[in-house]
Amino acid sequence: MSWEPVIGLEIHVHLKTRTKMFCRCPVGFGAEENTQTCPVCLAFPGALPVANRAAVEWTILLGLALDCEIAEHAVFSRKNYFYFDNPKGYQISQYDLPLCVNGNVILPTAEGDRVIGVVRAHLEEDAAKTVHVGGRTGRIRGADYSLVDFNRGGTPLVEIVTEPDIRSAEEAKRFLQLLRQTIVELGISDAEMEKGTLRVDANVSVRPEGSDELRTRTEIKNMNSFNFIARGIEAEIERQIGVWESGGEVRQETYDFDAAAGALTPHRAKEEADDYRYFPEPDLVPVEPPAELVKRLRSELPELPAARIRRLEVELDLERATVLVTGGLDRLWEAAVAEGADKLATANVIANNLVGAGVDPGAVLAAELAKLVEARERIPRAAFDEAISKLAEPGFSAEPYLAQEAVSDTAELEPIVARILEENPGQVAAYRNGKEGLLGFFVGQVMKETQGKANARVVSELVREKLAG
Ligand SMILES: [Zn+2]
Repeated sequence: MSWEPVIGLEIHVHLKTRTKMFCRCPVGFGAEENTQTCPVCLAFPGALPVANRAAVEWTILLGLALDCEIAEHAVFSRKNYFYFDNPKGYQISQYDLPLCVNGNVILPTAEGDRVIGVVRAHLEEDAAKTVHVGGRTGRIRGADYSLVDFNRGGTPLVEIVTEPDIRSAEEAKRFLQLLRQTIVELGISDAEMEKGTLRVDANVSVRPEGSDELRTRTEIKNMNSFNFIARGIEAEIERQIGVWESGGEVRQETYDFDAAAGALTPHRAKEEADDYRYFPEPDLVPVEPPAELVKRLRSELPELPAARIRRLEVELDLERATVLVTGGLDRLWEAAVAEGADKLATANVIANNLVGAGVDPGAVLAAELAKLVEARERIPRAAFDEAISKLAEPGFSAEPYLAQEAVSDTAELEPIVARILEENPGQVAAYRNGKEGLLGFFVGQVMKETQGKANARVVSELVREKLAG
């Protein structure tokens, strides 16, 4: 039997507002522990919350980018639970009346556009941060003791919940890359997984291909990169198929993905759905965004990444368009192409050389990049690489690099090629026996010998000629 994965995602995003969700403490990463607190976020008796206007507006902006309906009447509710990172004994969140509902994200894929539904995007506050000391895993089980840093407590958090519309681990990764880029471009969050400002949980189940049933799902938590998410989902899909095919039954459980071991470990068994005893937060008024505000925010939306991928896909191809847009590289590409640079070559130079050299695309002068792309086969490889690595330096000019000529003189290169072939008889024999992939090895040796000054195309032709002869 053939199986179809059914995947839904829950994404938490820290908003980078200046202050916290319900008090005026600064939001910051890396400040000394427990220095950014006040009676409100420490839940002293009698302290009253006030909603952060910027956080509400940014959530509406994000909702509009996700094609959501913006509620005319949204309500903050108390989600009651006890844990030591939660001094109030409840979290202020949104429950039955969230700010944004019924959205859609268009995901361009090789099989055409896929539509991923968004159930809701709501606003809440983050819990404080706990650090478990001692123990092997850094988790609470086996730790000697735990410390709490309340700086993070009360940070504005948007939770986005998708419909179970995603059909593969790869699609989940693509969706998240697109969503992350959208969030970053809206300027509302840095959305960095390694800093915890973007967190993702995945709900996974499988079903027989062609069926529309929803089988028991499991949840995977604590995945800290897009690649780990894809691998974690992949592992869970395989595990569930194994369970069903051996006559067993998938149980509703939560797993952590251990990337180092490539394995899923049980998080905690869920005996039944949690009962948080939600009720409306009596200390906050409902959020009723005026139509004028929503209209203004809608008019502020930039052209979104998904639309740009579809536009660039026509000029390049889906993969290159996706890499450029989700990497925040397409503006530079467009500017360099407008300067007359070749489309495909520019895309490759940006996605490979520029990114490989760790250059900030925002600091690059497109005209200088365009000159380098145009000259890339004429100038020595070493000069090209050096110029690329310095592209973002203030006042950079491509001119001195363009003046350098790669050695294309066959009379000068031939003896070097001959010597390299002489020194590597084993590889020569292997090449002549059909291992043509070794061509790159010989070219690489010649380039090394000439300190990157030879014209790689001429060398390649020479090597091929000599080996054929
Ligand atoms: Zn505070």
